[in-house]
Amino acid sequence: MTKWDVVVIGAAQAGCAAAWDLAAAGQRVLVLSRPAEQGKPCAGGVTAKALNRYRFSIAPVVREVVSTLWVGRFPSDSQALQAASPFCVMTERAELDAFCRQQAQEQGAHFAETRGIQSLHQNGSSITLTTREGDCFQASALIAADGAHSPVRKLLGERRYAGAVAIEGCVPRDQLSRYPGMTLDFAAIKGGYGWLFPKGDHVNVGLYVWRQGIASPGREQLDRYSRQQLGASPLGVQGYPLGTWLPHARLCQGRILFAGDAAGSTEALLGEGIYGAVLSGQLAAQAILAGQLASYPQWLAGWREEMATVEQLARLFYPLMPLSTRILQRNMGRPWWTGLPGGLPWGNASAAGAARQSSGDKALPCCSR
Ligand SMILES: Cc1cc2nc3c(=O)[nH]c(=O)nc-3n(C[C@H](O)[C@H](O)[C@H](O)COP(=O)(O)OP(=O)(O)OC[C@H]3O[C@@H](n4cnc5c(N)ncnc54)[C@H](O)[C@@H]3O)c2cc1C
Repeated sequence: MTKWDVVVIGAAQAGCAAAWDLAAAGQRVLVLSRPAEQGKPCAGGVTAKALNRYRFSIAPVVREVVSTLWVGRFPSDSQALQAASPFCVMTERAELDAFCRQQAQEQGAHFAETRGIQSLHQNGSSITLTTREGDCFQASALIAADGAHSPVRKLLGERRYAGAVAIEGCVPRDQLSRYPGMTLDFAAIKGGYGWLFPKGDHVNVGLYVWRQGIASPGREQLDRYSRQQLGASPLGVQGYPLGTWLPHARLCQGRILFAGDAAGSTEALLGEGIYGAVLSGQLAAQAILAGQLASYPQWLAGWREEMATVEQLARLFYPLMPLSTRILQRNMGRPWWTGLPGGLPWGNASAAGAARQSSGDKALPCCSR
C-alpha cells in the first residue's frame, strides 16, 4: 500500500485543476484515471471566464479565437453577437486535458492509470482504496473528479441524477459545402440547441438538450442536422451526459469531495462545464489545504446559487421557444447576455464565497453533506 496526502480520481478538467493547486502547495498527490483512448466527448469551447480561472495559459492548445457568435433559429432567423474582445477560444478536448495534466505534473502531481476503483473505505483519519488491478492506496482525502457517470458516487451508494445530454462530431473543413460561423441554433432540437464550432482544420457540430427525457439527441438526428447545416456527415460521433445537478447534489461524504461533473457543476442553460469543473476542482483543493473538508459545500455555495438561477432560466427559456429566442436576440449585447461567457452579472459569488469561507469557518474533521 502506498500513502499519499490526497488521491484524485479523474485526470480531466476538474481533476487536473485540483491536482495543480494541491501539488503547488506541496501536497503528495496521486491522480488515478482511466486510460484516455479517445478524447472526452466535448466541443472544447473555453469561455473568457474559464480562461481566467486557469493557473496557467492554455495558449499552446488554442485552435481558434472567437469574437462573433450567430444566435437564433436557423436558417431564417439569426443574429450576430459581436464582442469587443474575444469571448471564447476553441480547443480539442484531448489536447486540452493532456496539456492540463502536463501542467499539474510539472507542479509535482503523480498520474497513474486504472480500469476503475474496486473498493473505498474511510475512517476518521484516512481513506483506503483498491483499484481493479489490485493496487492499494491510502490518503487523508479523496477528490472524485470522475465525470457525470462518477463511478465513485455509485460505489458510495450516492443518489444518481439525470442532467443534460449532448452529442458531437467533426466535419473536416475540406468536406464543408457551407459554414455560417460559430453558431447556436435553437431550432435544431426540442429543449436545446444545435452548435457549429470552428476548430481550425474542422468544424465541431453537436446537439444539446438541457434535461434528459425532453429529447434524445441521437446519431441519426446529428447526421441530419450536420448535412443540413454543413452539407456533410460528421465523423467520430460521441454522446455523453453532462452533470448539471449541483443545486441538488450532495457534494461530499466524509473525506471524499466531489468536483466537476461528478458534483454536477455544469450550467444547465447551454451546458458550459469546463468553467465549473476548474472552479470546483480548485475549491475542493483549497478546502483540503485549509483543513476544512466539511466546509467545501459552503465554499461552492456561490456557484451553487448561480447554477440554481441558471436552472430556473433554462426551465423557462426552452418551453417558451420561439419567443425566448426573440427576447435573447433583442437583448444581445446587454450585460446579462454578453456576461454569460465572461461571468454572469450575479456571478463571482463563488469566488467571494470561497474567500469568505477560507477566512471564517471553523475546521471540522470531515463532511456529511
Ligand atoms: C458533447 C459535449 C460537448 C460539450 N461541450 C462543452 C464546451 O464546448 N464547453 C464547455 O465548457 N463544456 C462542454 N461540455 C461539458 C464538459 O465537457 C464537462 O462539463 C467537463 O468535461 C467536466 O469535466 P470533469 O473533469 O468534471 O469530467 P470529465 O471531463 O468527464 O472527466 C472525467 C475523468 O474521470 C475519469 N474516470 C471516469 N471513470 C473513471 C474510473 N472508473 N476510474 C478512474 N477514472 C475515471 C475519466 O477518464 C476522466 O479523466 C460538453 C459536454 C458534452 C457531453
